Amino acid sequence: MIRMRTLARGSSGDAVLDVQARLGTLGYRIDSEEHGHFGATTERAVREFQQRRQLLVDGMVGEHTWEELVEAGYAFGDRVLYLHQPFYRGDDVRSLQNMLNLLGFDAGREDGILGERTDRAVRDFQKNVGMPPDGIVGTTTVGALRRLRPLSTGPGRAAVREGEALRRLSASLVGARIAIDAGHGPEEPGGIGPSGVTEGAAAFSLAEALADELARRGANPLILRTADSDPSVSSRARLANDIGAEVLVAFHLNSHGDAAAEGASTYYYGREGWSSQAGHRLADLIQEELTGRLGLKDGRTHPKALPLLRETQMPAVHVEPCFITNPREEALARDPAFRSAVAVAVADAVECFLGGRAGPDVNGLPPGQTVG
Ligand SMILES: [Zn+2]
Repeated sequence: MIRMRTLARGSSGDAVLDVQARLGTLGYRIDSEEHGHFGATTERAVREFQQRRQLLVDGMVGEHTWEELVEAGYAFGDRVLYLHQPFYRGDDVRSLQNMLNLLGFDAGREDGILGERTDRAVRDFQKNVGMPPDGIVGTTTVGALRRLRPLSTGPGRAAVREGEALRRLSASLVGARIAIDAGHGPEEPGGIGPSGVTEGAAAFSLAEALADELARRGANPLILRTADSDPSVSSRARLANDIGAEVLVAFHLNSHGDAAAEGASTYYYGREGWSSQAGHRLADLIQEELTGRLGLKDGRTHPKALPLLRETQMPAVHVEPCFITNPREEALARDPAFRSAVAVAVADAVECFLGGRAGPDVNGLPPGQTVG
């Protein structure tokens, strides 16, 4: 697939006009003097939009922000929805999933992607209200969904389901399938360090170190790309889903204009109103290891709507152990001893995540049972 040109401060033309029109429709204000020109108020609107949707905030419109702009433009009822290849995506799908989950039908995680589970929930709903279960969300089904009041406003079925899926994971690393993504690749290398190390190359070395460590402990690790390939994020996600990975760890390195910026951050899937509890727990465990044991500065864990985290089914985290733009941390990223230490830290966290499911916050007592 051809990657779109990134629009940023100084860009102009029809593509900028289109972005401005979409932002305008969503209620963001842009100075009319910037019509067709990507200026200060356009950048501010893009940053606000990214902030609001829990995207990486860079004030630029690349492929992912563009897709989010398109998806944000769909309100529930705007178009007819059904199981379609490629899957429909958008805020209307997210509303549909949320309504179904609140009504007690299991649409799965509220990721805005109309896949098989959402399709099943639509048909269950239709059967339940006496409609033909054709899976088509047109005027009649939209009307029926809007008329019914949700059973509760608490966390929907998706959160409950996620807890159930967790209980089916391996209890240890032995034999567990772990997907490892090395962010970026030769085509789009990501951040570049002061001495020329690319984020893509550094991420690949980290991925290799983790794969070695996991294999040593009896797990089945799989790196989602080779050193010289750069598959799309969607095809990496599909591969992780297809092999039935139980956990996904993606490596990136952070970048900042200020060379002094330092430390580790870990992300899990989340956006307004919904975040992955399993991803959150795994992220916290990894972050604790990276900061506690390796002494890296704590950039904390954050929910983010990153495409790889969104499109994968298993608990997934995006780990940025250090800043490639910081000369001292770039040197760390080149040091095999540091990479092994990161690998050991992450492997310990994953092991704890898989083995620690007897912990009270994940594996509760079956319904109806009380501590006696
Ligand atoms: Zn990156």
